[in-house]
Amino acid sequence: MRAIGLLSGGLDSTLAARVLLDQGVEVIGINYSTGFCMNDHRRSLARPDEDPKRMRNEGLRAGADLGIPIEVLDAGEAYLRMVLNPKHGYGKRANPCIDCRIYMIHGAAEYMREHGGHFVFTGEVLGQRPMSQHLQALNLIEKECGIAGHLLRPLSAKHLPPTIPERLGWIDREKLLGINGRSRKEQMAYSTAKGINDYPQPSGGCCFLADENFARRFHDKREHSKVEEIRREEMILLKVGRHFRLAPRVKIIVARDEAENQFLSRYLSGGWRFEVLDCGSPITLVEGDPDEPTRQLIASITSNKVFALDAELKLARQSLLKFRNHLSAALQEPPNEQDASDFYQRLAAQSNGMIALDRSRSCVGELLGGISPDPNPELAESLKALFVFVHASLTRADVERNPEPVRDALAILETHRQTWLELMERLVDGRSGGGKSQPIAAGGNSWTT
Ligand code: SF4
Repeated sequence: MRAIGLLSGGLDSTLAARVLLDQGVEVIGINYSTGFCMNDHRRSLARPDEDPKRMRNEGLRAGADLGIPIEVLDAGEAYLRMVLNPKHGYGKRANPCIDCRIYMIHGAAEYMREHGGHFVFTGEVLGQRPMSQHLQALNLIEKECGIAGHLLRPLSAKHLPPTIPERLGWIDREKLLGINGRSRKEQMAYSTAKGINDYPQPSGGCCFLADENFARRFHDKREHSKVEEIRREEMILLKVGRHFRLAPRVKIIVARDEAENQFLSRYLSGGWRFEVLDCGSPITLVEGDPDEPTRQLIASITSNKVFALDAELKLARQSLLKFRNHLSAALQEPPNEQDASDFYQRLAAQSNGMIALDRSRSCVGELLGGISPDPNPELAESLKALFVFVHASLTRADVERNPEPVRDALAILETHRQTWLELMERLVDGRSGGGKSQPIAAGGNSWTT
C-alpha cells in the first residue's frame, strides 16, 4: 500500500505519517512551498544571530527523521489567486484555511494519480482548529477535493466514518487514533512513546497568513489595490520592514536592519527608492507614485536618525555576537597553524561591526545635539539622559567587544521609536478626525504597522 500525505513537519502530520508507517504502509510526503512560510522567509533573510532551527524546512527535516521521501511542490500562482479570493473566506487573520486545505489535498490527489498511490492522508485533528477542523469543514474539504472515501485522517480516524482503505482492510482501523480537540497532550505523549522529539512548537506560528501583523498589511493591500492585479512580489514585500501608507495609492516600506536592507535592495523593480548614502540608513521602497510633498515626507522618514541608529545598532550587535562566538570557540580550541589565518580573517571581518558602532555613536551624538529645550525642557532633559546612557553603553560595547550593552541600547531605542511612531499616529488621527494637529503630509495617511 502506498499513501501520499501532506507533511508540513509539524507534530500532527509527522505523527500521522508515523501511524501509517507502523502499519507497514509506504509513505510519500508532500510539502508545499506556499510563499507564506515563516521559516522560508527567515532563511531568505539569514540574520546572523537567527536560530538555525527556525530557518530549516520542517517537512524535509521530518522526512529525514521518518526515513521517507519528500516532494517539495511550489504552490504557484494559482495558490496566490486562491489566497486573494478564497471561496470559503478568511479565518481570524488572512488565513483562508478551508480553501488552503482543499488546494493542498487536491494537489496530493493529483500527485497520487500521476505517480501511483492508494489514498491520501493528512494530520488533521477533529476540533483542533476553529475554521477548518470541525466536522462540517472536514466533510466539506473531503467533498471538494474529489477523493471522497480516499482521504484518511489517522489521528482522528476513530471519530470519523471508516474510509475505503479501512473498509477494504488495507489499514487496521483499530490501530488508528481517536484524538479530538485543541489540546496537544495526546499527540505529545504518543510522539514521546515513538521517539519523535524534534518538531516545531505545536502552537507556534509558521504561516504568515495567520499572523496578526501580516494580516493587517495584507488586508490593507487588498483594500488599496485591484485584487486581480496583485503580484507575488508584493506579497513577499508584506513580510519585511515597517509599512506606512501615506496616501491611498502610496505606501512605503522601511527596512528595520541590515538583513532587511539587503532583502529590499533585491526588490527595486523600477519604482522609487530612498536611502541616505554612506551613513547606514534604512532603505525605503515606495509603492505608487508619490507627489512632491509626499516625496519630501519619505525623505525625512528615511533620514530620521532614530531609524538609521536602529539599523546601525543591529548591525553592530550582530557583528559583536559573531566576534564573541569566534573568540569563545578559539578559546576552547585554539586554531592550529593551518587554520589560524582563516580564523583571523573571520575576526577581521567583524570590523564592520566596529565601524557600525562608531557610526551609531555619531548618530547618538547628532540626536543629542538636536534636542532642544523648547517647548518642553523637562522632556528634553530626560531625552538627553536617555541618549547619554545609550552613548555610554556603546562605548562599553566597543571597549569590551561585548554585544550585551548594544542590546540594552536597542531596548531603550525601541521605546523611543515607539513613542515617535505613536506621536505620528496621533498626528494622523488628529488630522483625519478634523482635530487641531498639524498634517504630516498631503493625502490621507495611515500607519499599517
Ligand atoms: S494556517 Fe496557513 S498553511 Fe495552514 S491551513 Fe491556514 S492558510 Fe494554510
